[in-house]
Amino acid sequence: MSAGGPKPRRFPLGLDQVQAKPTASAREVLRPQAHLHMAAADAARLQTPQGLGLDSAGVRQRMVQRLRREGLVDERVLQALADVPRHEFVDSALAIQAYEDTSLPIGHGQTISKPSVVGRMIALLLAGEGARQRGQLGRVLEIGTGCGYQAAVLARLSRQVVSIERLKPLHDKAVDTLARLQVPGLKLIHGDGRLGDAVAAPYDAIIAAAGGEDLPPAWLAQLAPGGRLVAPMQAPGGKGQVLVVIDHVRDASGQRFVRTQHEAVLFVPLKSGVM
Ligand code: SAH
Repeated sequence: MSAGGPKPRRFPLGLDQVQAKPTASAREVLRPQAHLHMAAADAARLQTPQGLGLDSAGVRQRMVQRLRREGLVDERVLQALADVPRHEFVDSALAIQAYEDTSLPIGHGQTISKPSVVGRMIALLLAGEGARQRGQLGRVLEIGTGCGYQAAVLARLSRQVVSIERLKPLHDKAVDTLARLQVPGLKLIHGDGRLGDAVAAPYDAIIAAAGGEDLPPAWLAQLAPGGRLVAPMQAPGGKGQVLVVIDHVRDASGQRFVRTQHEAVLFVPLKSGVM
């Protein structure tokens, strides 16, 4: 068949080659440990100081440019997203996907939020009355630490962040990761975030990374005047989750909470109790 040419075809073999002795290159291909060497080389590449074996700051910049094109306009938020190494918060097998705009599993049935959603929620907090006057978020309460990624982004834009997680293994891991990355101004609590943290209340901003059917009363009680809360919530009439903003307004006519409803979102459920 094809054996007549100067360079015999290697694959698929011509019928007349089937009985031939293996060539040098065929022996090489059959080297049984080749894939182990390749896996070791991949692992070494993933563990280089730059993280992905690519320039991870460059990869983050590209992620930020995409988010800017898609409508995230607050440059402070974009800068914070550019600064935090998201790949450090996920399993090394998922590191390569860390700068795609997607949620990823972090174990225990939970997920790290999408960068665009983290950016959107923090931009909403920064647009609140108090934050606009202050020029930053002030004191923040986060419910649902998860892997700690959003806490690290928040920490770059606030005076202090108190973050609560109900699952002990996730809390412990976030403590390790955030200590390793030396994120300052953070207090991590293992507890039920539905109760907030009265010790450090009131908060200028409250952000929830898990969605329930109601707003826990403790959140409103712990929101400072001029403060803003952003949370996913079940939309009325069982129509899925939406992003809800609550402003604690104080003016001549007294104090009140003003609620606005935004786009549809998809968050893990807000649960009670700790594990
Ligand atoms: N901000 C996180 C997102 C984690 S997903 C990140 O960047 O990774 C939401 C988290 O909320 C989950 O880890 C879940 O366990 C937690 N959660 C759900 N209900 C909670 C509650 N009542 N108190 C504290 N954490 C809660």
